[in-house]
Amino acid sequence: MGTLKKVLLVFIPTRSGVDGARSIYAEREQSLPARMLARPLRTLIRKSPFSIPPLSLMILASIRVEGVEQTICDLRLELFPDHVEWDLIGISVQTGTASEAFELADRLRSQGTLVALGGPHVTMFPEASARHADLIVEGEADDLWRRVLTDLRQGTLGKTYRQEERPDLSLPRPVFKEHLDAGRYFTTNLIQTSRGCPHNCDFCNVHVLNGHRLRQRPIEEIVGEVARFREHDGRIFFFVDDSINADPDYAEELFRRLTTLRITWFGQATTALGMQQSLLETFARSGCSALLVGIESVEPASRKAHHKNQSRSDELVQSVRNIRSAGISLYGSFIYGLDGDTLETPAAILDFINQTELDVPGINILRPTPGTQLFLRLREEGRLLFDPDDPAAFRYTFGQEMLYRPKQIPLDRFIESYGELTSRIFTVPASLKRAISAPSAKTAVGIFNLFYTHLYSLSRHDLKRQAGQFHQKNHFAIR
Ligand code: SF4
Repeated sequence: MGTLKKVLLVFIPTRSGVDGARSIYAEREQSLPARMLARPLRTLIRKSPFSIPPLSLMILASIRVEGVEQTICDLRLELFPDHVEWDLIGISVQTGTASEAFELADRLRSQGTLVALGGPHVTMFPEASARHADLIVEGEADDLWRRVLTDLRQGTLGKTYRQEERPDLSLPRPVFKEHLDAGRYFTTNLIQTSRGCPHNCDFCNVHVLNGHRLRQRPIEEIVGEVARFREHDGRIFFFVDDSINADPDYAEELFRRLTTLRITWFGQATTALGMQQSLLETFARSGCSALLVGIESVEPASRKAHHKNQSRSDELVQSVRNIRSAGISLYGSFIYGLDGDTLETPAAILDFINQTELDVPGINILRPTPGTQLFLRLREEGRLLFDPDDPAAFRYTFGQEMLYRPKQIPLDRFIESYGELTSRIFTVPASLKRAISAPSAKTAVGIFNLFYTHLYSLSRHDLKRQAGQFHQKNHFAIR
């Protein structure tokens, strides 16, 4: 079969947003002191609380095929290894970084290197992606990647590897971490217990990509994985499921079993957890220190308009209070600019944050991600502000640009009100106060709030610049 085949798996950073933490406009436009502050901050942000390894590539790198050696390259933290001759390079393509991924793929292919593209963007837009690849992997790649590696070894690579059925997660699929330089990351203890989401929020692509049916891994296997990971890395665990309480019985059993391992963990949940008393107590006992919850909206009309039905808006305040009272700090993610939102909404968000003493608020602008129901609807309604076929238009940013016209708020008033809201929430004194009053993970809460104070100032700067461009293009005219 010849010599060992070398495969590189590449993760692409965002140019702005949390990986980049930079203005989307040319930095030379900033003053020298601002530049001197921005660079070290950017490095700090990239290297500290946000940097966890890409789990999808960890999973693929853990697939072992004889005669093939895999390496992960995380371009957020290292340079591209140009000095090695790779037999195949696989790039994970997210919509927010698709143009950078395609650029790299085109460059590598022009040098004669074989390139495979996969990931969410490729799954949703296979034809457009195939133009930049020698082969594409459509769908969840767990089983397909083994076929790619086997075909590479045998010299029989195809052009399209398409998922017929979603991978069966009840089978053992051990994740190994020897491909990672652990010291670079905040933690490498990432665990995924399930995929899929039974809910149907129209701005989300999780149910589009992973289906509505929850596919769970066997509890026994997860407990073994946690124990194995803990032997080599005693740092925090991060349960990456979008909703770790989606199946309360399964979660209860899992975290009851994990209690004896005495780990500390972060995760993501729905606010329904606040009303799931027994599960909440189990989470707290098992070492849950902080959770991210998608509050999204405090406006019933917006929740309805975007099918955010899994928790009741009249229970939100109590749910958040209950979770914090259990000793768990909360990152609450909001979206401003939903279809039921008005200029009264910022005051309602502010009121909610004050009432609940939320530890880390995240105030996002609605993102019509291509492939979601929301994107299709806004395109039909003529509310997108960019070419819907240009992936570069949907780059990741940190609330730094408007991609669409809000339904009930004129564009210029929206930009103004968003800036006012973030400047009231994110100040240095408010960050320190939140850190002190957080029920747990106080340092992380303080760091997040301080970083966000910086990031939202970038957001205000960039939105103001964009507003100037909108004026020139007459986008503020009432439609
Ligand atoms: S936003 Fe969360 S709850 Fe809604 S569909 Fe996406 S993953 Fe599910």
